[in-house]
This record gives sequence, structure tokens and C-alpha cells, in this order.
Amino acid sequence: MPTFVYMTSCDGCGHCVDICPSDIMHIDKITRRAYNIEPNMCWECYSCVKACPQNAIDARGYADFAPLGHSVRVLREETKGTISWRLRFRDGREKNFESPIRTTGWGTIPSPSDLEPPSEEAFKSQELAHEPTALNIDKLPALTPDQLKQVLV
Ligand code: SF4
Ligand code: SF4
Repeated sequence: MPTFVYMTSCDGCGHCVDICPSDIMHIDKITRRAYNIEPNMCWECYSCVKACPQNAIDARGYADFAPLGHSVRVLREETKGTISWRLRFRDGREKNFESPIRTTGWGTIPSPSDLEPPSEEAFKSQELAHEPTALNIDKLPALTPDQLKQVLV
């Protein structure tokens, strides 16, 4: 579900603009408040929801089921370091989920410019930059040829 901004809560800090991987959170030049310029292009990653200090961003239910009476609300609690989601179904049932806003401290992830440039050899690899160490694993999982089976029909 794409996001939208409660303009009365937004203070125009721009954190959502900086973090949005789809570059669709923009600051309105007249109101100086953020808005999602293209909900259809939203990755639904909710990075903006997690980054907003004003709790001003919420998820918009899809038009095919939102009118049927469900709701999804999100609450970011900076002091607790948590983000919680409340789903309410149209038959009245409710589900609540709570998780850390993030699992690493703010500013603890090095920027690419802090790291050694990749070697010539690394450019020939299928691994992305800083994999697998950045994933906290020794090796990326991969299928071996004996795990691939041809199914004849
Ligand atoms: Fe951008 Fe992700 Fe927020 Fe969508 S959910 S507006 S892609 S940061
Ligand atoms: Fe507004 Fe929140 Fe975006 Fe800051 S992060 S500009 S308060 S919506």
C-alpha cells in the first residue's frame, strides 16, 4: 500500500525525501510540506514511515479493499525505537505488530565513500558491493548443479 502525508503533522524536515528509494517524496514549494508525488511508483518499503520524526506518514489502503471497511494504521515511537502496525479487518478482528524501527544504530552504517573501492576482480563477480559481509554471512546461498533437476513432461 503506498504512503501519503498528513500535511498538518509534517514540518517539512525532508527526511522522507532523502530516504525514499523511488524519489517520489517531494516537498511542496508553496506549502513546504512533503507529499507523495506518484503513489503508483511507491515501492511500499515504508522507509519514509520509519524515518518521519513527526509520525506524519501513513499507508493508504488499496481502493479495491479499503472501502470494504478495513484499516491499516502505523505508529512510529522514537523513544521506544519501535514501529507498530494495527490492521483492522471488516469483521472487527484486529492484528497488531510491533518491530524495531531499525536493527542498527543511526549513522552506524558506513557510506560507500568510507569503504575501499572494489577491486578489478570484484567487478567480474555476481555479488553486489560489500556482499556477503554486509549481509553478515560468509557466503551467499547458491544452488549446485546436482540440485537442479530437469522435469520431463
Ligand atoms: Fe518512498 Fe518507500 Fe515511502 Fe514509498 S514507502 S514513498 S518508496 S520511502
Ligand atoms: Fe514531513 Fe515527515 Fe517527511 Fe519530515 S519526514 S518532511 S515531517 S513527512
